[in-house]
Amino acid sequence: MRFSGFRVFKEAVTGHKGWKPLWRNPEPKPAYDIVIVGGGGHGLATAYYLAKVFGQARVALLERGWLGSGNVGRNTTIIRSNYLLPGNQPFYEFSMTLWEGLEQDFNLNAMVSQRGILNLIHTDAQRDAYRRRGNAMILSGADAVLLNRDQVWAMAPFLNFDNARFPIKGGLLQPRAGTARHDGVAWGFARGADLAGVDIIQNCEVTGFRIEEGRVKGVETSRGYIGAGKVGVAVAGSSSRVMSKAGMRLPIESHGLQAFVTEGLKPTIPGVITFGAGHFYVSQSDKGGLVFGGDIETYKSYAQRGGLPVLEDVVEGGMALMPMIGRARLLRAWGGVADMSMDGSPIIDRTPVDGLYFNGGWSYGGFKATPASGYCFAHLLATDTPHETAKAMRLDRFERGYVIDEKGVGASPNLH
Ligand SMILES: Cc1cc2nc3c(=O)[nH]c(=O)nc-3n(C[C@H](O)[C@H](O)[C@H](O)COP(=O)(O)OP(=O)(O)OC[C@H]3O[C@@H](n4cnc5c(N)ncnc54)[C@H](O)[C@@H]3O)c2cc1C
Repeated sequence: MRFSGFRVFKEAVTGHKGWKPLWRNPEPKPAYDIVIVGGGGHGLATAYYLAKVFGQARVALLERGWLGSGNVGRNTTIIRSNYLLPGNQPFYEFSMTLWEGLEQDFNLNAMVSQRGILNLIHTDAQRDAYRRRGNAMILSGADAVLLNRDQVWAMAPFLNFDNARFPIKGGLLQPRAGTARHDGVAWGFARGADLAGVDIIQNCEVTGFRIEEGRVKGVETSRGYIGAGKVGVAVAGSSSRVMSKAGMRLPIESHGLQAFVTEGLKPTIPGVITFGAGHFYVSQSDKGGLVFGGDIETYKSYAQRGGLPVLEDVVEGGMALMPMIGRARLLRAWGGVADMSMDGSPIIDRTPVDGLYFNGGWSYGGFKATPASGYCFAHLLATDTPHETAKAMRLDRFERGYVIDEKGVGASPNLH
């Protein structure tokens, strides 16, 4: 079933009787060549590219709950490639190029909207740092424009330019960045993977790994044992818990993170705006709600919810940056669990167990990485070699001292 404008019209005039479920609901088979654990964005994208690009025919994806129940359906939907370091920037730019053709590729409207991201500058030192970051972005093929105060004012006159502590002196704009509908991304990858032959098995929790003589043989699940030639784990906030079942301790901490949405307002926010002095960022959804977020929770928990102290902190940041937000009513808040690596950068690598591969440590920036993460993990699983843009994302980099310590792209646990 392909989606198109014609199809929507035909269904509208024939009573919407022709729509089919987006994916099948198969029973698990006794064994597969490759089993992916975790039906979030990264697991689904991995399964999709494994089947579609790397020609893998016997692939299963196991999800303990329902697709999209994790962070992929809980994030604030920002996509961007405004990183600084060579270990990160080419990877995120690769992801941005995949986003640009994604909806045509998996034939689903994921509402990818390149409305730009503006990182605000409040000090001269910050302008120097952003100029450097912008140059690094341009060198990797991305787009970056340094704006002065008047140019920022022309874009967003509602900001508090003359705040005594945090005056706005300019901004770094990435015009190709933006937002995408997060659950649409999960559904698009799921539908594409299913069409390419992947068995997507929901309500199937992986409870252990069968490892013999240093090699993984399969996974124990709540629906029985499933044999596997290779196993790829992409469980985001549950990384430490799941990998501990294979006897591994990861350089990752899981932290709660909340998102907030106001009532629907008329179009106000031109793209995504980040406060360069406090931790606050905001965009506006197509329904009109202001979508915003800030710091991680003050206590650690695997519960997918947050507390009021962080809400207060985030809203204070919002009030300092754009006092008019105080007149909007908060409609919803929810929480997810972010898998934060010790340098804030991700891991896509083999593990010491033969046939067991790991993808995680996305901190709270993994949504934008979804297409490239899936592509690069599929590349690693299918070819046993890292993709060109993910070569630095090694599991043992903390032991070797080759960290990708990119402060400024999101919180790192060591900064809290
Ligand atoms: C509030 C919030 C805001 C965010 N905002 C942004 C943003 O604006 N931009 C951005 O780039 N990133 C953002 N992120 C980060 C981003 O959402 C995550 O980094 C990314 O979604 C993680 O990858 P995933 O989609 O695969 O994770 P998930 O969707 O969490 O997928 C992991 C899946 O594994 C499953 N699982 C766990 N254990 C098992 C098991 N034992 N067996 C089987 N399945 C299992 C889980 O049920 C889950 O579905 C945000 C995160 C949060 C919480």
